[in-house]
Formats: sequence, C-alpha cells, structure tokens
Amino acid sequence: MELLDAMAQGGHEQVIAVQDDATGLRGWIALHHTRRGPTYGGIRVWDYRNGGEAALDALRLSQTMTYKCVLAGVQGGGAKTVIVSNWLRDRRGAVRELGRRIEALRGVYRAGPDVGFDHNDLRILAETTRYVAHHHKGVLRPAEEATAEGAEAGIRAAMARLDCNDLDGARVAIQGLGAVGMALARRMVRAGAEVIGADPRAAACEHASNLGVRLVDVAEILSVEADVLAPCALGGVLHNISIPRLRCRVVAGVANNVLASSYLSPLLSERGILFLPDFVINAGALIEGAGHEATGRSDWSAEIQGIGGTVTRLLESCDRHGLTMVEAAHEYAGAILDAEENAREREETEAALSR
Ligand code: NAD
Repeated sequence: MELLDAMAQGGHEQVIAVQDDATGLRGWIALHHTRRGPTYGGIRVWDYRNGGEAALDALRLSQTMTYKCVLAGVQGGGAKTVIVSNWLRDRRGAVRELGRRIEALRGVYRAGPDVGFDHNDLRILAETTRYVAHHHKGVLRPAEEATAEGAEAGIRAAMARLDCNDLDGARVAIQGLGAVGMALARRMVRAGAEVIGADPRAAACEHASNLGVRLVDVAEILSVEADVLAPCALGGVLHNISIPRLRCRVVAGVANNVLASSYLSPLLSERGILFLPDFVINAGALIEGAGHEATGRSDWSAEIQGIGGTVTRLLESCDRHGLTMVEAAHEYAGAILDAEENAREREETEAALSR
C-alpha cells in the first residue's frame, strides 16, 4: 500500500524518513497523534526486508501507542521509530545521529527502548537528545519493573473475573524471560503462583530457575496448560496456527502486538480464552515515565495499579455490547479521542468568534 494512503487510513499525522550514509542509519519516525501533548514510543531495531515493511510497522505500532496513552490516562499520543538493522554499519554513531534527529523535533517525540534497542542504546541516545522517555538515571526504577507491576494488576483483574481472587496456586506460563518476563516471573512467584517459563537464552533460564520457575522448551510454552499465558518475547506470536493450540484461560499480552492481527481476537473468544490486549496491560513504564517527566513525582504505583480497574471496565463493556476485549479497548479509546477532538474544535470556534 502507498505510504500516504496507509497514513490516511490510520489517521497518522507525520512520518519522517531518517537516513545517514556515514553510519548506515535508515528508518522512520512515525508520529500518530500530536494533539494531546508529547508523543511516546519506543525505538525498534529489526531485520526488516525493506523500507516499506519497516514503514508499515512504524504506522501500526505508533497507532497502538496512541490507544495505550489514552487508556492509561497519559496526556500524550503515539509514536514509534523503526530502524532497519541490516543497513547499520556503525551502531553507536547511528544511535547518536538518531538522537540528533529526535532532538530536532523539539520534544514533540519522547523515545524509549523497544525490541532490539536496549538500555545501553538508550544511554547512547541520551548523549545527543534530551527527549528520552523513562530514562531513570537512578530516580525511577527500571522500566520493566513498572511494566510488570501493571501487567500483574491486569492479570489479577482478569482472574477475579474468573472467580479467582488470589494468584496463590494459579499456574502462569511466561514466554520470554528477558527484562519484563523476568520481572513478571519474580512477581508471580512472590504471589504464590506456579510459574512455568521458556527462553532460548541459557543465562535467562538459569536465572529464572533460581527464582523457582519451572522451565519448558520454547516450542512448548504456548501450549502449556495454565490459568494465564503471558507472552513476553516478541509480537505476532498468536496466529491461526498457535491459537488452536493454546490451553490457558487468560492470555495476558505483555509483548507489543501479541496478536498477529486484531482480526484474530474473536478466535480467542470462541475458544473461551480471555485476551487482555497488550496496549492495555503493558502501560506501566509509560505511566511512570511520562508522569515523572510531567510532574517530577517518582512513585506512580497507584496509577499503574489502575490498569486493573481499566481491565474490569473493559470486561463490563464486553458483556454489555457483546464485544471482544480488543474491540472494547479500541471503542473506548476512540470515544475518548473523539470527545477530546470535539471539545478542541468547540474551543477553537468560540475563540475565533470572540476575536
Ligand atoms: P527483552 O529483549 O529483554 O526480552 C525478550 C526475551 O524473549 C529475551 O530473553 C529473548 O531471549 C526471549 N525470546 C525471544 N524469542 C523467544 C521465543 N521464541 N520463546 C521464548 N523466549 C523468546 O525484551 P523486554 O524489554 O523484556 O520486552 C519484551 C516484550 O515486551 C517486547 O515485545 C517489548 O516491546 C514489550 N514491552 C516491554 C516493556 C518494558 O518495559 N521492557 C514495556 C512494554 C512492552
């Protein structure tokens, strides 16, 4: 699809192409919605087949970030940077150059980490731009801790809905024991859950095993019998082939875009599986980072725990209107955005009339 058509379809405001010969930096910065304040979105470095595929990913991910901000109560909009990894020649130089491009946007966009872009990259980025989201510098806890706290709140709300008010004895399967998967595993073990995990990295497995996590092969984790399955690795892991194999009651999407397509969410409902959309339950770090930046306050636990309340509200809306959780979340966020847009237009009209 042509880029401008795809932007029009998703309601995107701006897409910036970034290119630097010296370092091999090639990618896009997509700004989906700038009218609610700064835009937030991670930087993804990925082996895209070509620039077109990268652009479409940036559009998809930045739109989801707008929904995430709205549902998390963050006064901001969605953005995303995607970088084509196979062009990179000088990674450090490329990250520094990307920082300069982000700095030139004068705060419209606050960048964070995402797949393929870790805390070290973020430190390098901060050498050339002030606009780094959730750069804790010893003030905030690591982003994954805040993310895991929000995911736990969402999981508890979903389990309460299934008449299980305690995670003690519940079985939780975690795909990916990286930053956020490990933080969630620690929380689940502390809550008394039986935790099963998988990761291709031996060091991560050893660490998790020391926490009390029972390990299974990466090929098995999605079909483990469990109360909750939390995909914490990559997006797109739930598709036509994997969904029929699931043996869980709840999928708590923590990795961004767990569903290969939002059109697949009815497939989960048909199987009686409650799907918690990732953009609802993985907003903990966004809430903490954006909140700290706006106010200087560093403890955002109360707001992060509010993710549980959002899940409960969306579940009620699903019941009332016969929607899936993904549909309910899109509808709820869309209604808030429409109401804000109408109010803004009214204010602008009144201001023009009074001049
Ligand atoms: P990470 O790179 O630290 O961890 C990912 C882990 O998944 C790695 O340990 C990797 O070895 C493992 N993995 C890869 N393929 C796997 C497979 N097939 N089976 C099992 N494990 C596999 O990344 P992260 O920061 O923990 O983020 C994980 C996901 O959560 C990403 O999609 C990210 O966008 C999303 N997310 C993270 C945060 C955060 O605060 N870190 C916030 C919101 C969303």
